[in-house]
Amino acid sequence: MTAPYVSIVVPVYNEEKSLQPLIDRLYPVAEALGRPFEIIFTNDGSRDRSLEMLQEYVQRYPGVKVVEFNGNFGQHMAILAAFERSTGEIVITLDADLQNPPEEIPRMIAAIESGHDVVGTIREKRQDTLFRRVASRIVNITTNKMTGMQMSDYGCMLRAYHRNIINNINQCSESTTFIPALAQTFSSNPTEIMVGHAERTLGESKYSFYRLIRLNFDLMTGFSVVPLQLFALLGIITSFLSVGFALFLFIRRFMIGAEVEGVFTLFAILFFFIGIIIFGIGIVGEYVGRIYQEVRKRPRFVVRKTYGFNEP
Ligand code: UDP
Ligand code: MG
Repeated sequence: MTAPYVSIVVPVYNEEKSLQPLIDRLYPVAEALGRPFEIIFTNDGSRDRSLEMLQEYVQRYPGVKVVEFNGNFGQHMAILAAFERSTGEIVITLDADLQNPPEEIPRMIAAIESGHDVVGTIREKRQDTLFRRVASRIVNITTNKMTGMQMSDYGCMLRAYHRNIINNINQCSESTTFIPALAQTFSSNPTEIMVGHAERTLGESKYSFYRLIRLNFDLMTGFSVVPLQLFALLGIITSFLSVGFALFLFIRRFMIGAEVEGVFTLFAILFFFIGIIIFGIGIVGEYVGRIYQEVRKRPRFVVRKTYGFNEP
């Protein structure tokens, strides 16, 4: 067995409908590369037939390997587990649902070979709901502003990385993360290419509204403390303003007399500030929760078994 030159990493969570169409399109692309390759699927605790299908692929398709998780640890952990076991000089990540065309892989490899260490992708004519597109837009802009990074599409998981980047990622042990942003922090020469995007026709999205929010908090808090700083700044401005306001009421009291009619205005202002305070406590909570997770140092994921790896 020759060492793989390209490792293709695919996280799988309840994807029984898309796996066969995926491998039908992905495998010929990999073979056509003309270089040794491996395809590593991580089964992220699927409750459907995904695992059985993957086990069968290990027998049927040379180069296919499977990491089996003990439960559902999330897309990013699934990718990290595969990264740890990958050996290719170039590592590609790809979703299992065929929203991103595997046919783009040769172009991405060419970009790495031309000297880039991270190749991101921008989804041309993105086929998702308006809500998700608008939300992504906001996330992309604010993340770039807050982290000082430059990436147009954080959400698109069709990406290529040079081995150097993967080695750096493998040294990180954070238990909540967002891989494209993590890679970006290690990259010295990233690039982005336009790729096609298809609607999800097989199975359904694994991200509910709630999970999307959790994921975006991972992205925001994992790569920046700007939310905390902004909040501190807001606190300072608020206290200055309220001193001014108190002064105004104090002077008014002597000039016109005590104000009673304005009580509700005062309430409105009060509620506004209470809202900000609760929001701020929430943000602090997000960070504290993550610190707690890191301090506990629990394993980030548990691998039950692997298939197709020829290690002892
Ligand atoms: N996925 C995973 N674990 C999860 C959620 C998703 O491994 O907990 C995988 C999923 O099988 C797919 C990829 O991550 O291969 C992206 O998920 P999905 O297509 O549902 O996300 P969306 O395209 O809606 O953002
Ligand atoms: Mg998808």
